[in-house]
This record gives sequence, structure tokens and C-alpha cells, in this order.
Amino acid sequence: MKNMKKWLSVILSILLLTTCFSVAASAEEKTEKTESDIACEQLQRDVPLILVTGLGGQYHSGLLTETEEDDVRIWEPTMEIIMPVIKEHAFSLVSAILTKNYDKANAILKMAAEGIFGPFSCDNNGIPDPDTGKKENSTDTLRNPNGYANSYDFLFDWRYDVVTLAEQLDAYVKQVMELTGSDKVAFVATSMGNSILMTYLYKTFYTNENYKDSNHIHSAVFIAGTMNGVANCEDPFSANITLNAEALVRYIEGLTGTSVPVLRALYKMGIFEPVLTYVGELVQGLVDNGLYDSVDSTLATIPGFHALMNAERYTQVRELIYNTPDKQEKFTTILASGDFFHYEVQPNNVNIIQKMKDSGIRTAVFSQYGYDILPITSDNDRMSDGTITVTASSFGAISTATDETLGQDYKQAKECPCGKNHVSPDLQIDASTCAFADTTWFGRDMFHVFDSALLAKLIDLVTYSEEEITVWTYEDLPQYLVREGDSLVPLTQENLPDPPVAIEDSIAQDEEAAKLATTIRLILAAVCIFPVLVIALIVFAVVRRKKKKTANAKAANEEPAMQTTT
Ligand SMILES: [Zn+2]
Repeated sequence: MKNMKKWLSVILSILLLTTCFSVAASAEEKTEKTESDIACEQLQRDVPLILVTGLGGQYHSGLLTETEEDDVRIWEPTMEIIMPVIKEHAFSLVSAILTKNYDKANAILKMAAEGIFGPFSCDNNGIPDPDTGKKENSTDTLRNPNGYANSYDFLFDWRYDVVTLAEQLDAYVKQVMELTGSDKVAFVATSMGNSILMTYLYKTFYTNENYKDSNHIHSAVFIAGTMNGVANCEDPFSANITLNAEALVRYIEGLTGTSVPVLRALYKMGIFEPVLTYVGELVQGLVDNGLYDSVDSTLATIPGFHALMNAERYTQVRELIYNTPDKQEKFTTILASGDFFHYEVQPNNVNIIQKMKDSGIRTAVFSQYGYDILPITSDNDRMSDGTITVTASSFGAISTATDETLGQDYKQAKECPCGKNHVSPDLQIDASTCAFADTTWFGRDMFHVFDSALLAKLIDLVTYSEEEITVWTYEDLPQYLVREGDSLVPLTQENLPDPPVAIEDSIAQDEEAAKLATTIRLILAAVCIFPVLVIALIVFAVVRRKKKKTANAKAANEEPAMQTTT
């Protein structure tokens, strides 16, 4: 999410390239234009496009100062903020946890949370400190400097609740329409922008009986969306924490992009299971003793987080964090917006998009995959873009873990009216169960939001084609795409990656890990034997000395007798 600034500038540069200079650029760089390239060149981009971006956009992270360069970044907290907190509390925290003094540990965690998250926490009504936060949202200043004249970025302070943010979006849409003189706007939402856009659509379109009077929504593309929940946020927030050795190894190796022999050797030695069980017990001890009370002055004040949960997890968070009548009273406003989003908007996510389609508003969903989810989330055998599961961002696809496939004999779970195959060529996703199987695309090897510039052509075609396009419209823009360097190409039998090997099997066959495990065992054995040897030597020396002493004493006693005998 922190790459939003970079992403926005790249996507808009690419949009620019595919518009003004597309003919010249493709003539020079490409020998062969695909069917969709040609279609893209012919588009009339006559409707302004509003990008509803995700959490972490560039304009809302600072403790505002006179000049932007001096702003202090408070989200995500930098090491300058985190390190002093660690220095101050780490030792006492670890000793409190290890001695299972959970009350003390939770009190320390509360102080640590205030040190790290305090600078950007909100008041009890979910209102951010006015000295922190976004710069003014204005169509004059925010028209993208890259020159793509018809694109506007909706920037926002994500700490607000989605209902407030949807109202801000509404005002922004009106500004853009006034500025451009257009009676319609197109939307592209990424990540958290999806929760905001969905709330906006619910209020201004889905439940708005007067919508026909404005009829201003041209299209919407939902990319890597948070509207159905974000596993990396909702699970830790609701104490659905599961530790799993395979998931841990997969995740770390996925991050480093290489196999980590030490990790594999430790896994082979069976060290993870007892350690993870022990850590799990400690975490449970903290939870049972009020861990989640320790965030009531920090994270609990930020309603923006509620946009990143599904309804079930939100209900659990409500019971865990806002768990007393006092707290429910204290956070009334925050909970009211949370309830609205989760109990009114979210259950209608699919209905909202369906109604758009029925009204002739074109839509598309784009889900990214190829990465593991955090190894501490529940059911961490889920395919994701590193942050959001494929099932959530695609409105219901079936998927495997990253190291598994559905199998060669797999039959897709549902018959689709199109009568065609919705199982991915890599056998890791079945899109037949998606709410909108024929207008949901998937991008393999795409980390959350990062590199979404690759989507410029798809966004253009979905938004500006005369007719709604589906995954069957262009052969070179099928349901499953894969990132290859700087481009997104169809995922086919020809460019399939090697079939995945289950991590247990991969480790079992790993000779380097086996050798390393043996070495570690020898070292451990040596380390254990050394003190035993030392103790044995000391005992031996003491016993020997004592024996010698006794012998000397005996000899001394016997000496006079001997003298008498001689
Ligand atoms: Zn279909």
C-alpha cells in the first residue's frame, strides 16, 4: 500500500502512453499489435476517470509542518518511532510474557502501542488530529501532473470511517463533474478504495431512488479490493491468530524469493511445532488477560481499519475491543459507521454490482494472486496477493494454497451460463464460483497493488469500450494473466510456471537442509555434552583429590606403627 504514490504515477504514465502517444510508441517498440492493443488505440476517452486509491496514499501520513519535506511520517510508523519504544519496553515485556505475568505484559503493550500508534490515533469519535493527516483534496491541485487530462485522484485520510470518506468522495465527484463539464464519471478503485467506493455506490446509486435524475456513473473497476475483508487486518484484529509451520516457511521464503536452508533444517528437526505451540499458548494468555483492551487509546480509535474487515470479523472485533457498555458509549460514532458498513453495505456488495450491470453500467473485478497470506492469520493456507485472499477480492473464487493445485482431474465447481472453462491453467483457481465469473480477471505473481500499472489496458478497455467486455472478448486478454517483467500477458500452457511442490515434500527432499540439520544436531549435541564433560571432569578431580587426601591421612596414621615394627 505504501507504494501508492509510485503506483499512481506509473499507472498514469502508462495511461498517458496508451492514449496520446500510443500509436507512435507501439509503432516503434512493438512488431505485432494484439487485438486488444488495436481496440485500445481506438477508444474515445471522453469520461473523466476517478481513481479511488488505497490506504497509505502519499498525502495523509505526515505530522504536518510548514513545508512538506519536513513532514514527519507517522504511517506506517518508521524505525525512528519504533526503536525508542522497543529500547524502553522490550526487556520488561519479554520477561513479563515468559513469566506469564500477563497483566503486566498487557500494561507494557498498551504503553508500547501508545508510543508507536499514538501519533496518528484519532479521538473517541474517530476524528484524526487536525495537525496530522492529508493535504486538501482539490481538483485543481490534484489533477495528475503526468498530464493524463481526464484522470483525477481521490486522496483521503484513511483513518476516517468509510461513511465519511464516501461523503468526501461524493463531494469530489461533483467537483470533477463541474470542472470537466462531464455528466458522467468512471471509477477505478484499488485496495481500500473499494470499501469507500462500495459505500458511495450503496448510498448514491443502490438505495438512491432519485439516481435516475443524475445517472452519472459510467463504470467501475474493482482492483485488489478490500470490500469483502482483508485477512491480514481482520484476523489479527479479531484474535483469529493461527501459527502454522508450513505457512511460516512458505511465507518467509516467498518474501525472500529463495529457499532458506536454516529454516528448512529447523523444520526438518521438528523444532517449529513445540515452539509455535508454546508461542501460541503465550499469545492466548495475553488475549485471555485483556490484550485487546490495550488498544483502546490507539487502534480502537481509528474507524478506517473497520473498512478492512468482513462482517463476521467485525462482529468479533466489536465483542473483543469495544466489549463493555462504557466503551460502546465512548465509541458510539465509530461503531455506528462500522455497523452501517458491515451490516448494510457489505451484505449487498454483490447486489450493488449486479444492479449496476442490470442498469447498463459496465464493471469489472480484478484479483491478484501468487503469494501467501500472513502466517499468523486463521486458515493460512489461502492464496492471496500477500494481503487479501483471492476468494475475498474476486467475490468467491475457489483457490488452493500457493504450494498446491486443484489436481489434473479437477472439474469446475459450477456450470457457468457461458458454458466455458473457468479453471486457471495453473490449476490453482476456479473462478466459476465468483459472483461475476465472466467479468472477473486474475493476475498471477502480482503482489498487493504494487505494479498495478500493468492494468492500464484492461482499465481502458473495460471503461471506454462501446460494449461491456468480458474475459471472452479478447483472446489476448483472457481471465488469467501473469506478470512477465513489465507486462501482463495471458497465462497459458506455454508460459506456465513449474508445478508447485508441497512445502513438506520439498523440505523432505532437500539434501542441503538435511545436511544442515545434521550439522545443527552435532553442534547442539556438542553444546549439550560440553557442560556434562566439564562437570564430569570436576567430579573426577574432586573425587581423586579426596581419595589422595584419605590415602595420605591413612599413610600418616600408619607411619608410627611402621616405625615400631622396624
Ligand atoms: Zn462463464
